[in-house]
Amino acid sequence: MTDRITVLGATGSIGRSTADVLSQHRDRFRVSALVAGQDAAGLARMARELGAEYAALADRSRHAELRAELSGSGIACGAGPSAVHEACSRDADLVVAAISGTAGLVPTRDALKPGRRVALANKESLVSAGQAFMAEAKRQGVPILAMDSEHNALTQALAAGCIEDVETLILTASGGPFRTWSSDRMAGATPAHTAKHPTYSMGAKINVDSASLMNKGLELIEAHHLFGVGPDRLGVVVHPQSIIHGLVQWRDGGVTAGMAVPDMRIPIAHCLGVERRLTIEVPRLDLAAIGSFTFEAPDEERFPCLRLAREALAAGGAMPAVLNGANEIAVQAFLDGRIGFLDIPAVVEETCRRRSGQGAAAPATIEEALALDGEARALAAELLQRREPSQLKIAAGASRSGERRPPRRV
Ligand code: MG
Repeated sequence: MTDRITVLGATGSIGRSTADVLSQHRDRFRVSALVAGQDAAGLARMARELGAEYAALADRSRHAELRAELSGSGIACGAGPSAVHEACSRDADLVVAAISGTAGLVPTRDALKPGRRVALANKESLVSAGQAFMAEAKRQGVPILAMDSEHNALTQALAAGCIEDVETLILTASGGPFRTWSSDRMAGATPAHTAKHPTYSMGAKINVDSASLMNKGLELIEAHHLFGVGPDRLGVVVHPQSIIHGLVQWRDGGVTAGMAVPDMRIPIAHCLGVERRLTIEVPRLDLAAIGSFTFEAPDEERFPCLRLAREALAAGGAMPAVLNGANEIAVQAFLDGRIGFLDIPAVVEETCRRRSGQGAAAPATIEEALALDGEARALAAELLQRREPSQLKIAAGASRSGERRPPRRV
């Protein structure tokens, strides 16, 4: 059996790990299409290595560069939104949706076509447009496979029983590079500090989200849509060794844990293998060498982003999309050196607070989700422009000393 695979976000960290797994099973997989954002040389190199049929770049201005890199290879290529659409439309049995951020929404939706499976690594599809996305997958009859390590571990653990018998789903968090940092120390954190993730090497955006625990908050929202479990039955525990990725607490008190060494190739291989496991070369779990597992409750005072995500999930409607849009703007401002690390939750909280008065249903389509996302980004950007970063820091400081600020409507 040969499966045809398309990878969206091929040159990112998930895409590169996917390429590694594919290269270990050349007989089993054929690469239909690879899609990347701007990295023409990296995309061309991967397309040649994997023998892809088609390569597409989102950035139209790099079409000539990509064509030159692929000359003589016989690999067709294109650039710009129509080329990305073409890549999504080509025949494939499985599409790996790993474009990071809201930029992944439309291509991931375009990947939902009858007769294929979608392995989802783009969180934003479920955070910003969970209802619309899952409804469209159902309408097209497309199974969604969870590629995020926590959700994949939960998928594996859930195979031990019926979803109806689940009491709680628990996601683990490594705690990120600031797990033991005080709020004062975090106030001075730089993007370089967030890049020191204890267990994974990832892109800049997700590094910041992992450090703030927003990543775990987004994953709670993701889990809600993937598994149809309500917010009150979803939990988080900090587990610095990152060996247990997710736990299912059953109604009889039994617990099933999904474990593996923290290596993204393991959940990727699980998604690519479908019914049968793939043999892959990755480090094996050596429990005696690890010695002990530790756990702690997440500290939402020091990591307000987790609380904000839980609140957005509980509020439902438009709020998860607003939270996500505001977070993307705030994280970019932090990466650009325009605001401090603790300004991220301050910007997100204020954006959510201002938007919450307007009330809105959950987006029914990807287009509605994108409109809402644009609105949240504009609001967050306006807050960043109008307010001095020092004021935002004061706001974050007030909440971390335990004061309850009254909700403001401006
Ligand atoms: Mg994860």
